[in-house]
Amino acid sequence: FAPWNDPNAKPYIRFENVTKRFGDFTAVNDLSLSIFEREFFALLGASGCGKSTLLRMLAGFEEPTSGRILLDGQDLRGIPPYRRPVNMMFQSYALFPHMSVEKNIAFGLKQEGMPKADIEKRVAEMLKLVKLEPFAKRKPHQLSGGQRQRVALARSVAKRPKVLLLDEPLGALDKKLREETQFELMDLQQNLGLTFLVVTHDQEEAMTMADRIAILDKGEVMQVATPTEVYEAPTSRFVANFVGNVNMFEGKVAASDATTARITGASGAQIVIDNAGEAAAGADVAFAIRPEKIKVSSKRPAEAVNALEGEVYDIAYLGDMTVYHVKLDDGQVVRASMLNAARIMDDPLTWNDRAWISFRPDAGIVLAR
Ligand code: ATP
Repeated sequence: FAPWNDPNAKPYIRFENVTKRFGDFTAVNDLSLSIFEREFFALLGASGCGKSTLLRMLAGFEEPTSGRILLDGQDLRGIPPYRRPVNMMFQSYALFPHMSVEKNIAFGLKQEGMPKADIEKRVAEMLKLVKLEPFAKRKPHQLSGGQRQRVALARSVAKRPKVLLLDEPLGALDKKLREETQFELMDLQQNLGLTFLVVTHDQEEAMTMADRIAILDKGEVMQVATPTEVYEAPTSRFVANFVGNVNMFEGKVAASDATTARITGASGAQIVIDNAGEAAAGADVAFAIRPEKIKVSSKRPAEAVNALEGEVYDIAYLGDMTVYHVKLDDGQVVRASMLNAARIMDDPLTWNDRAWISFRPDAGIVLAR
């Protein structure tokens, strides 16, 4: 499933040069974005970057100041929320406290004037889908947070919208339940064949669930890509820093040809990398490398091209992996992580030990400064 790679595929939702101003504040700035049918798409960004405003404009609660939003080729301007084939699930869930689970799910269908027998059938279907059959008669306060979340979800999809908008859908759940529910949401989306547009500030959540992620900053799109691309090939320092942990070696390109390049840091230390991309000799760049691509050892690794010496500054044992902070002799602190399954147990590094970090020339990427 990768319609975004197909030049003939038509986007299902299209934001075209959309700007939204509140007074003289620009919440969304000339933003363009395409989302495909049946895609699980995540809008990821820090608080205030304009994620919710985008959802609200698609749902019809706000109109863009300029630009267009198209759904299946149709310009949505002027179409009221209830006439858009879009439904929104809010973080607060907004369940009716005095209504049972089944009544909550049935509410929108009733309003639409669906015949009673059809409503009953649809509600039963929805209860089964979210595995809440035994809880049909309960009121929201008699449910756990996770169950309430599933009622809200069932209610949002009961009307069979084409697009479901989810604003921080799992924000109220604890970590464990959130992780479980992420997989349930993915199953649900697949089974129903809907297009999901989810807003989150939690990068792990976006990485887990989404086919593609748009990373937003100050009302602008910084990058749109699959989770793998966003992590392995960020196109800017902002994205590299925003998604996951990263080490940045700041320096100048010392020499560069088609196959290798050298970068000299402020301290004079040189690293060799596979290529500097667009950056020519003399350019100021940063070499971005993820912690798990860096090895730590007590001895200078014989085979490594890039080996830098320092001191173990901090160690954090996280169960599945161990994170080392190594302070290099030029003062830079480097984060390196190793899976505990792969850790060399006869090299038990500890605080204040001398240590070498090393990495391969193809382990990171060069970003402009
Ligand atoms: P969060 O994760 O905190 O919900 P967000 O990325 O969803 O943040 P938005 O809710 O889209 O952010 O808001 C973007 C910016 O627009 C914020 O600075 C917010 O204060 C501002 N904003 C949103 N709605 C309005 C409004 N009705 N009037 C004035 N400013 C608004």
